Amino acid sequence: MHGREVGRQIHEDRSAGYEERLAAYQRESAPECGDRFTAMPWMDDGELHIDGICLVATMVQAFNLRLPKTLVPPSTCTGCRHVGAADPVSVRTEAERSMVAANAWERARHAERSCSAWRGMQTATHDQVSKLFQALLADAGWDQVEEEDKWWDLDAPGTGWGHRRPDITALHPSTGVKYVFDVMIRWATAETAGREAGAGAAWAEAYKVKRYADALGRLDDAEDALALREGRAPNYTRRDVFVPLAFEGGGAWGARAKDLLLTCGRRMEGEKHEVLHWSGMGWGKHWRQRIGVAIARGRARLLVRAATGRALWGSGGRKGRQGKDAKRPSPLSTEWDQHSC
Ligand SMILES: [Zn+2]
Repeated sequence: MHGREVGRQIHEDRSAGYEERLAAYQRESAPECGDRFTAMPWMDDGELHIDGICLVATMVQAFNLRLPKTLVPPSTCTGCRHVGAADPVSVRTEAERSMVAANAWERARHAERSCSAWRGMQTATHDQVSKLFQALLADAGWDQVEEEDKWWDLDAPGTGWGHRRPDITALHPSTGVKYVFDVMIRWATAETAGREAGAGAAWAEAYKVKRYADALGRLDDAEDALALREGRAPNYTRRDVFVPLAFEGGGAWGARAKDLLLTCGRRMEGEKHEVLHWSGMGWGKHWRQRIGVAIARGRARLLVRAATGRALWGSGGRKGRQGKDAKRPSPLSTEWDQHSC
């Protein structure tokens, strides 16, 4: 897909809609973007499975290909009743065909970027990515991995905009320092169109850092005040560390999340390699695939829902099995077997 020849063609192409195709190609250029596709062949069921319609939607969204008829949302949005541009009455010339294709993409983009009706689906995907990251941290030996710790930043003035409730808090496996994580998925947006993969995630990281600055400052001030009262030096090693976990709809990860995954893998490799021939790289790829598939499936389902009204729920696998095979391990299991990837 990322062959040199394909890349050259995409860069030289000037047919209708080329800007969006080129932008999509650039968004897909981070190495981790490919992980969601490599996850599929060896697992045709369960958490890492993407069913047929979602696979088509994922490919079309990833590379801004022409939308197949089944994935074109109606001109009046079924979610918010927004009325988009009407298609030409007759479709015979190339210009008319291009207009139909452009309208189709306009509606698909409305569903993903500006329609309020499908926000809940994006939130559900965000929550799933957060859960996967919790499982990842637990697997990597982090302690007290907690979701939405309501006790964090409790001293915030009022319940207004100042108070932060992070998606995840956990204690570092070797230092015991409390880490505070917040997940953000940057779906395809107008602001990052045409920019390289990771630009949207970098934006999200900076946004989250700014959002958390006051809360972290409050906690530092509280520790300083406590130290003053107790007549000791402030304890700098006990300060919470904030890490924004940012992802893009196209699959690119933010630098901070990538660093974290790499460090976890390396640390575990040091511990486990001798006895298990354990590979931190394989472990990292496994989590990139799980998170990549969760985002791709969430994004694809939104388009399917906007286009067909069909809600695709569940883990994305086939309908539940019958009989003795019915019971499957939890899709958020922290177990990892390096032979399965
Ligand atoms: Zn809408």
